[in-house]
Amino acid sequence: MTLKTPAQYRESLRDGRETYINGEHVPDITVHPWFQQPIEVCSQDYVYDDPATRHIRLYETESGAEAHRIFQVPRTEQDLEAWMELPEISGPSTMVTQVLMALWNVKGAVSAIKPEYAENIERLYRYCRDNDLRAAEVITDAKGDRSRRPVDQDDPDLYLRIIDRNKDGIVVRGAKLHITAASMVHELVVMPTKAMSAGEEDYAVSFSVPVNTKGVKIINRAWAEPGRSSFDYPMSVHKNAPEGFVIFDDVFVPWDRVLLAGETPLAGVYANSLGLWERVGGLLEFAARARRMVGMAALLAEWNGIAGASHIQEKIAELVFNAEILRMSLENARHNYRTSDTGMVYPDPVAINVGKFYAASTFNNMVRILHDIAGGLVITLPTEADYRNEELHPYLEKYLHTRPEVKVQDRMRLYNLVRDCTADAYGGWELVTTVQAGGGIAAQRIVVMRSFDIEAAKREAKAAAGII
Ligand SMILES: Cc1cc2nc3c(=O)[nH]c(=O)nc-3n(C[C@H](O)[C@H](O)[C@H](O)COP(=O)(O)OP(=O)(O)OC[C@H]3O[C@@H](n4cnc5c(N)ncnc54)[C@H](O)[C@@H]3O)c2cc1C
Repeated sequence: MTLKTPAQYRESLRDGRETYINGEHVPDITVHPWFQQPIEVCSQDYVYDDPATRHIRLYETESGAEAHRIFQVPRTEQDLEAWMELPEISGPSTMVTQVLMALWNVKGAVSAIKPEYAENIERLYRYCRDNDLRAAEVITDAKGDRSRRPVDQDDPDLYLRIIDRNKDGIVVRGAKLHITAASMVHELVVMPTKAMSAGEEDYAVSFSVPVNTKGVKIINRAWAEPGRSSFDYPMSVHKNAPEGFVIFDDVFVPWDRVLLAGETPLAGVYANSLGLWERVGGLLEFAARARRMVGMAALLAEWNGIAGASHIQEKIAELVFNAEILRMSLENARHNYRTSDTGMVYPDPVAINVGKFYAASTFNNMVRILHDIAGGLVITLPTEADYRNEELHPYLEKYLHTRPEVKVQDRMRLYNLVRDCTADAYGGWELVTTVQAGGGIAAQRIVVMRSFDIEAAKREAKAAAGII
């Protein structure tokens, strides 16, 4: 078991991976300006000696060694609770490694159909855990014309597929889009984007390959230009990691890394499992964000002298309701946990999907409330450079004053936080991510409707109406 240091993590990214950004080929991301902040963000998850986070970040494995908690397969509600503390202190490359939990979740079902794949899941898991590696969730296909099946597309590669099989392994071709932190991890864990049926065997494919595998190319899309200050961008400097448009250009995958190759009934099993774990991570983030929005609104109201106004109190209460519903969804999901056939404990999918749906459906309204309370300074506040300018400084101190107990610098930081989270590049990213990441809103509706007992509800309605 080897725990990496931040420096070793940085070094591990220097492995010949084929990455691009803004039209430029990047032979070594560790020295490219656009990747400095993302690498710094992701390397913080390798800080194991900080007493404030060590107990959250580490767990004891079955052999008594220490490993990052992202690899802890929960066996009890307490394990699940500890695991669910991770998003508060973790960067994107660690959180996407939850893909290994999704694999564990389906290991039993996979083993029943093809034990070799289940063995490969376990080997991959141990390899990542024991070498302190991170793995991306690589599921969303290009998908072409959404109304057509993979086999009916104009180009057969619009869903990633197997183009060749031989005694050593498979060869795959296709692209996976929007892959969070793809260039910042070590492994790309690929799964089918949806259920597949007879005739779609080549599309029922799952595997894991190292990022530097021949034929893998990643086009990065980042929203944070290099060198941004933490004064002006207090939140996004800690969240900064590009998404990857990942191309698999006839990539060879050896059999011991193949997790599915043609058994169509398992395609949906993988896709659903990842959907759940993506939404767990997403909902934890959304709940934390909702609490932050309450805090931002309350501080803005106090510092601007409007906390006593009844319309402001109503708006803050609405934010509180939102934060509480998300917290309760998570608490409910954890408490009403399910147990897989391999003894793994996982959050209740209904509570997670209800929470994710609610978060996605209400976020725009929450942002509107925050902007309403904050006023125009959200987007017109002068920058840190203006504040540090000797000539301008006194003017900003004078005209940004509200109350004696409020320091102008703090007020500026608060407005920067609001802008950064809701009205700037990262805020725009959040707006789309809340709806789409972990699957669009329709996906949550499907999961919840599938498990809700509509027939029982109909029986109750009939009984109430006196219908026999
Ligand atoms: C910032 C960000 C990070 C992400 N990270 C990851 C990641 O790490 N890994 C990963 O694999 N994915 C990731 N995603 C992808 C995310 O899961 C998808 O964006 C989401 O599933 C929607 O897919 P799409 O973008 O292709 O949109 P579409 O599928 O085109 O959806 C757009 C709309 O079309 C509807 N629609 C689509 N198909 C049909 C159909 N057949 N019939 C009827 N309606 C349909 C949808 O319901 C939706 O309303 C990320 C996305 C974002 C924005």
